[in-house]
Amino acid sequence: MTENQSHLFYQSRQPRPFLDRGEGIYLYDESGKRYIDGSSGAMVSNIGHSNPTVLAKMKAQMDRATFGYRLHFRTRPSEDLAARLAARMPAGLDRIFFVSGGSEAVETAEKLARQYAVTQGQHSRWKVISRSPAYHGGTLGALALTGGKLFAGPFAPMFREMPHVKAPQTYLDLDNLTEEARGIRYAEMLRERIEAEGPETVLAFIMEPVGGASTGALVAPDSYYTRIREICDEYGVILIYDEVMTGAGRTGTFLACEHWGITPDIVAMSKGLGAGYAPLGAVAARADMVEALLDAGGFLHGFTYAGNPLACAAGLAVLDEMEEHGIIEHGAQMGEVLKARLEALMERYPFIGHVRGKGLLLAFEMVSDRATMAPLPKEWNAYSELVELAYDRGLIIYSRRTRGGVEGDHFLVCPPLIITEAQIDELMAILIDALDAFAAAHDLPVQAEAAA
Ligand code: PLP
Repeated sequence: MTENQSHLFYQSRQPRPFLDRGEGIYLYDESGKRYIDGSSGAMVSNIGHSNPTVLAKMKAQMDRATFGYRLHFRTRPSEDLAARLAARMPAGLDRIFFVSGGSEAVETAEKLARQYAVTQGQHSRWKVISRSPAYHGGTLGALALTGGKLFAGPFAPMFREMPHVKAPQTYLDLDNLTEEARGIRYAEMLRERIEAEGPETVLAFIMEPVGGASTGALVAPDSYYTRIREICDEYGVILIYDEVMTGAGRTGTFLACEHWGITPDIVAMSKGLGAGYAPLGAVAARADMVEALLDAGGFLHGFTYAGNPLACAAGLAVLDEMEEHGIIEHGAQMGEVLKARLEALMERYPFIGHVRGKGLLLAFEMVSDRATMAPLPKEWNAYSELVELAYDRGLIIYSRRTRGGVEGDHFLVCPPLIITEAQIDELMAILIDALDAFAAAHDLPVQAEAAA
């Protein structure tokens, strides 16, 4: 094996330098090169890297016990974290189940919904409607919700794909509808789907409140959220919010559902909860649902590492940091600053068609024509090219080509919530340099005198 070969494999052959260390919003490779972590990894490192207080609290837990199996012991960190999370959930969602990641959280939410329905005698309800495009995880159960060729591709025969509705593409004003009417129209697609499937077969509806890897930070009109809740209530369909990416402060509030005052029936969380310090996820559910399961003999579900004390101690330490230093509020303010800076890029680069998002879950989309939002030529692979240009210059951003509806290259700019205004300047300078290089490579116009 040479330096560039490895026994370890990931999705594809994409050699990257070895990570040496992290500090705040920065990561350093072994050559000493510094990177701004402009995507918080995969929207994970909400409080920044190697926070010494978090490390000290984890070390204190390690010195006591790193593992205690949940069937053998209760642990203080898991009980305390459950209580702290319950206090931050919308009213009534005060029962917490711990897992180790996002896909596990989503599948836990689905299984909880199904087992609850069975306790209610609703055996015919099993379909979980999701949106397209969506991203709910890579395990087979979560893939049945994620759907689409991109992720499900060769695995499709191995699971039963769940029904989908179109995710709101709110920046496409195709029908000249008002924002509110567009939200209602997209929400009503859920009603149509429920009716088409047979309401007695529909168990739940799952949605990312702000799109992540799926639609690139797309926010639906306000009317969408309220109407979806109403439709779920009308049909007795359990509403699951997948807050794996949006939770733990990413959009400027602890959960994104707070922006619209929506109380889902179940919330799935992960990423920012452990914030890169430990693999951690959680599901919050209505107490009456959980009680029904427990009365019926218990939840038929569990993972070995669920609620392990070390991950929960990390989660507690992360939450302490967020609360003691007002990190969520700070992130919300920095989100406004960064969004304005990204919007200003539209003057300089006519090929940036849309800037969107909430808090520090922000994205811009590149297009060949802003009026029609026609995408850039597919063969340019813009979504990957710009990421590499930025990476070379010491900035990490996250990108995807949206599928399952409108095709377009979008770029998530989601730094840790602790970023300062001066660091946003640094981030933007590198991003502009990368965008200039991209424009030059493709002969695209740049309004050089426009605000950088
Ligand atoms: N749900 C959402 C909204 C996500 O963004 C992701 C990951 O990106 C997942 C679920 C899956 O999480 P994990 O990769 O931790 O399994």
